[in-house]
Amino acid sequence: MSAPSPPPSLDPLRSASGRLLAWYDAHARALPWRAPAGHWPDPWRVLVSEFMLQQTTVATVATRFETFLARFPTPRAMAEAGADAVLEAWSGLGYYRRARHLHACAAALVARHGGRVPAEETALAALPGVGPYTAAAVAAIAFDRPTVPVDGNVARVLLRVLGLDWPLPGALARLRRLAPALAPPVRAGDHAQALIELGALVCRPRAPACPRCPLAGLCVARAGGRTDELPRRDPRPSRPVRRVRAWLAHDGAGRVLLRRRPPRGLLAGLVDVPSEPLRAGETGGGPPLAADWRPLPGEVRHLFTHLELRVRLHLARVRASPPPGRPPPEGVFWWPLARLEALPLATLGRRLLAHAGLLPSGRQASGR
Ligand code: SF4
Repeated sequence: MSAPSPPPSLDPLRSASGRLLAWYDAHARALPWRAPAGHWPDPWRVLVSEFMLQQTTVATVATRFETFLARFPTPRAMAEAGADAVLEAWSGLGYYRRARHLHACAAALVARHGGRVPAEETALAALPGVGPYTAAAVAAIAFDRPTVPVDGNVARVLLRVLGLDWPLPGALARLRRLAPALAPPVRAGDHAQALIELGALVCRPRAPACPRCPLAGLCVARAGGRTDELPRRDPRPSRPVRRVRAWLAHDGAGRVLLRRRPPRGLLAGLVDVPSEPLRAGETGGGPPLAADWRPLPGEVRHLFTHLELRVRLHLARVRASPPPGRPPPEGVFWWPLARLEALPLATLGRRLLAHAGLLPSGRQASGR
């Protein structure tokens, strides 16, 4: 067994914090959740922005942020509004589990902290839906606590600058242990945002813009011509595959048959296209209504963190809605395509509608 590698020297990076902050002052994007220079940000706004940004682009979050905050200006307002109201307001942002977690987090803030966002990283990390990255981000950005939030973007910057071969995703935990030693004694929040911004705008996964980088002079990966190699990544473990048959009915007048998922389980509480699992030897419950169902060619593959769904989609056009015959099963309802944004439609449901040609296709981008 090889000996563990010694901890990297952080001194060059620490001594470059002034340069990094100067770059941030000149190049930071004006974003709705960022406070203007000389002002402290509202911790609730910072917390909400971190939830939203976990899987959604900055551009998308920026267009929705103020409306969302106007509806839920405080943790107490969100806790009292209820989870369904948060899900509804989250519509179109995707990855709806975050909305449920955010509501649970608001309720915990009311119950444990008098409706205020705590400043300590440990108290933040104990809140529902708040992982180590979000806890460090809120502590640093909202309260100037000396820490560095390490997500994929920041990890990429650190691993390249320090020339570390630590493979992701395990490198995240190792870098987080170094984080307090990396933060400067003053402007820790701006320093954290500077690293986030550098990873998003300059130290991109492919073709990093090194000539524009304030850390170029100390970057080990750049000096060694290894920016394409770093960060390394462990091979992803394979996910179990679950096969599903989905039934998409439309009435030719712009309405589709959708289903509200049960409150527990996969895609809990969200809206999607009616479907049933397919297992060898099982016929399942069948389509939600009698119609001339036709299978569409191909499969829609959809990845969750813990499994891969392969969906065979069947399409039917019915003359009237509701069509004659038995009523749709419980939880199933007709809805106009033009008003999908009013529903917490699961990303998978959106992809199935696109596969059937009822919505424009296009992947939902994610990340900062
Ligand atoms: S010099 Fe290039 S590789 Fe190194 S941190 Fe800057 S952008 Fe990233």
